[in-house]
Amino acid sequence: MNKWIKNVQFRLSNSLLPPVCILCGVVGFVSSHRSRDLCLPCLQSLPWIGSQCVRCALPLSATAVEALCGRCQTQPPAFEACLSPFYYQAPLDHLLLGLKFNGRLAQARLLGELMTQWLASVVEVPPEQIIPVPLHATRLRERGFNQAVELARPVARYFDLPLNLHGVRRTRATPPQSDLSRKERLKNICGAFDVMQPMSGSVVIVDDVMTTGSTAHELAAALLSAGAEQVEVWVCARA
Ligand SMILES: [Zn+2]
Ligand SMILES: [Zn+2]
Repeated sequence: MNKWIKNVQFRLSNSLLPPVCILCGVVGFVSSHRSRDLCLPCLQSLPWIGSQCVRCALPLSATAVEALCGRCQTQPPAFEACLSPFYYQAPLDHLLLGLKFNGRLAQARLLGELMTQWLASVVEVPPEQIIPVPLHATRLRERGFNQAVELARPVARYFDLPLNLHGVRRTRATPPQSDLSRKERLKNICGAFDVMQPMSGSVVIVDDVMTTGSTAHELAAALLSAGAEQVEVWVCARA
């Protein structure tokens, strides 16, 4: 279909249908932010992150004296910092799983917008480019989309940054990290990325969730050896 007609149709349906909260189903609420998919009480009840490690965003107790978690003090990751608006808890975990395995792209839009609004309030110096964690070609074919790319789109638009979708290739279809221990995850992901272009300046990796950080660490290390000066990680939720 003609892109222009599609666009007009989208805008019409958006302005005629009352907003419905994606979480509680309430209809016709007045949204307090740009997104029309979440009512205010549901927005406020999301697991917004509190006290966290300044390096890897691991949740810390509110009374923690050190700003770095134990692991980052002894074995710091290759990336400089991780920013995450949310803990990986209900209902965020359901939204992210729905996006990943059921292709609910409306949830990608909502989560990407929430991520963007939060990042806009904390990022002082934006990086020079965004690289969403790539999926292996086989998995991309199965799923039809890459959730990290969908989350990164509104972020890149807001910060007016290039979204680099071809700079890195995933060389192996690794088994899902979620089934593995930390040690197994590191081994599983080792050498899984091929950087296809020379890198420079500051780069941000975007992903949906950070669990142990081994995927982000491996990709950051690959980008640094390809010439990037600094790598940060922006995720939607931190486990
Ligand atoms: Zn609601
Ligand atoms: Zn840490």
